[in-house]
Amino acid sequence: MKTIFFRLLFACLFLMTLACSHDEFESTTTETPQNINDEAALAAAATGKSLSSECQFEYEGELGPEFWATLCGSDWESCGGSSQSPINIETSTVEHDDDNLEPIQTWYRGTSVDIINNGHTVQFNYDAGSTARLNGIEYELKQFHFHTGSEHTVDNYRYDMEMHLVHQDPNTGLLAVIGVFFKEGRSNYLLGKFLNHIPKNEGEHFKDPYRHFFVNFLLPYDKTYYTYNGSLTTPGCDEIVTWYVLKNPIRASRRQLDAFKKIMHSNYRPVQDLNNRIVRSAGGFLAYDD
Ligand SMILES: [Zn+2]
Repeated sequence: MKTIFFRLLFACLFLMTLACSHDEFESTTTETPQNINDEAALAAAATGKSLSSECQFEYEGELGPEFWATLCGSDWESCGGSSQSPINIETSTVEHDDDNLEPIQTWYRGTSVDIINNGHTVQFNYDAGSTARLNGIEYELKQFHFHTGSEHTVDNYRYDMEMHLVHQDPNTGLLAVIGVFFKEGRSNYLLGKFLNHIPKNEGEHFKDPYRHFFVNFLLPYDKTYYTYNGSLTTPGCDEIVTWYVLKNPIRASRRQLDAFKKIMHSNYRPVQDLNNRIVRSAGGFLAYDD
């Protein structure tokens, strides 16, 4: 019995040493590589538009959301379109449609760490090879990023934070984004791992090719979703996104949520008119309440 105990103790100490030695490979740099997984860059593959890198936007003031449509000639005019995102999800008008909609299926693999602060959000690029099947279409997961507070609201309730998992259909270039709400509660394991490494300033990024993680730690168990056709929530606001907003939030501690807010400030676009669009929901209701 004693032998087993000491073997286990030795194994634990060995693993701890390994974990610590990884820190030697961590690096923060101000060199920003071409951000090929940036939403606008991904959208360009579907729209054929060239990237308007000299045009700037903000979340308030003269470059704020109410002016986005006119800030970049015709390139950002979609921001004034009729199928824009985010929206307020009015649950009383949502059509539950398990007959025609499929449950979300994901094949997310581990990824190395590549975090970018692009001046508007904190973005985690995802290694190639992770996919999601969303209503018959196989998408590739490209990156995920965060907004404080949430961009979508539910019955006018705004959550503390919203994560966007950006997927692309390799055949058409069209995007599907899974939105996940964050609510204050117990601390989140994965956010805790990276909280000290999130680049604080625009243009900075943090890479660690030796450490791997799974995004699944940031997803709720019950993936019941709201879906509708919309747009990117940043300029050029291209209307090429099928949205999958998960009904169930996940938890993060107040300290974790505040850390993101301190870096990103309020980076949510106000909700847009639904116009004649319909929001549907599916995914099954498991006996699970997070
Ligand atoms: Zn987003």
